[in-house]
Amino acid sequence: MKPSPQTNLIHGDYTPPAGFAAFPVPIHHASTVLFESVAAMRSGDWKDKSGYTYGLHGTPTTFTLEAKLAALEDGRFCLLAPSGLAAIAMVNFAFLKSGDDVLLPENVYAPNRELGRWLSSDFGISARYYDPMIGAGIGALIQPNTRLIWTEAPGSVSMEVPDLPAICQAAREQGVLVALDNTWSAGLALRGFAHGVDIIMQALTKYQSGGSDVLMGAVITREQSLNERLAMAHMRLGMGVGADDAYLVLRGLSSMKLRFAAHDAAARRIALWLKARPEVARVLHPALPDCPGHETWKRDFHGAGGLFSVIFDARYSEQQTDAFVDSLALFGIGYSWGGAHSLAMPYRIGTMRRGWEGAGTLVRFNIGLEEPDDLIADIEQALAVLAP
Ligand SMILES: *Cc1c(COP(=O)(O)O)cnc(C)c1O
Repeated sequence: MKPSPQTNLIHGDYTPPAGFAAFPVPIHHASTVLFESVAAMRSGDWKDKSGYTYGLHGTPTTFTLEAKLAALEDGRFCLLAPSGLAAIAMVNFAFLKSGDDVLLPENVYAPNRELGRWLSSDFGISARYYDPMIGAGIGALIQPNTRLIWTEAPGSVSMEVPDLPAICQAAREQGVLVALDNTWSAGLALRGFAHGVDIIMQALTKYQSGGSDVLMGAVITREQSLNERLAMAHMRLGMGVGADDAYLVLRGLSSMKLRFAAHDAAARRIALWLKARPEVARVLHPALPDCPGHETWKRDFHGAGGLFSVIFDARYSEQQTDAFVDSLALFGIGYSWGGAHSLAMPYRIGTMRRGWEGAGTLVRFNIGLEEPDDLIADIEQALAVLAP
């Protein structure tokens, strides 16, 4: 039977020649994944990454990205999520159940704090918050029902650098898992597993993509039993990522190390310049001594990202520091970071954290890839609005 031309548009009979070779990872778009036979379908296991079962469970494109990210962190397993926050949620749902307790740093990424509130109010899980500088003292906070400790190195607004090895040691002694949000370091500047963490989460939205155009997250582990729990949560929650987005992240990864080094060098230069300014009370950059945990950063990190904060002298009102941010020409006002464009964002740090009540306004800078001299000139002209 000869199919009609319309059927041929769907089924076709053309097979391209074999032997095509090029550098980019092919973009495989698929919801349905085809099996060779019913027997092959029946013997397929969605968890087995040596084969394919359904678009949500992976394609050659997403498996390749997962393998690269696992290798970058010196891990063995990786699962992709549609955003960094979705990756955080996957960790919480994989390892917490009703009756359990989770510890989060007080400076935790705000939506993770909000998720903790939701787990407490609606899911019977207690979420408690600890001083990020607690170090080994975390041991005293661990309860028999504590299952998971989140860490963030450094916190992405107030920038304290936690003592990860001390926290991990205390957690291990009591059999509690430690998850690290390693977004600031992009998996380049901090070796999470070497310091003892069990689970590494990254927002690929930041440096990995590098283009301010993709939302994606990843969870990386070394132990099979942990990956299995995560894979069940990943499947049950339906965490898929788009093939084009996975491609954009793969494309960004090749240049990430160079971009990260450029963000780092420019951010340190600008942070030092700001430190010398009379309008600025403190520069919270882990590579500068003003930053809580600076010594820990020196001991544990191999570099710094482009993200840091400054606290303006308390004599300036919020209205004045807002006017400073509005006066910047090269810095966009917006969330996220890790892209080529510089950003500035004011935070009411005094209302966010215990003990920071009297602090002046905090402005967080994401230093992009523009010429640092131009960025300094822009900040200098904007600081003029603070003049009496
Ligand atoms: C951006 C970010 C996230 C969340 O990533 P999204 O992809 O925006 O959901 C999580 N943690 C940190 C530290 C981040 O900066």
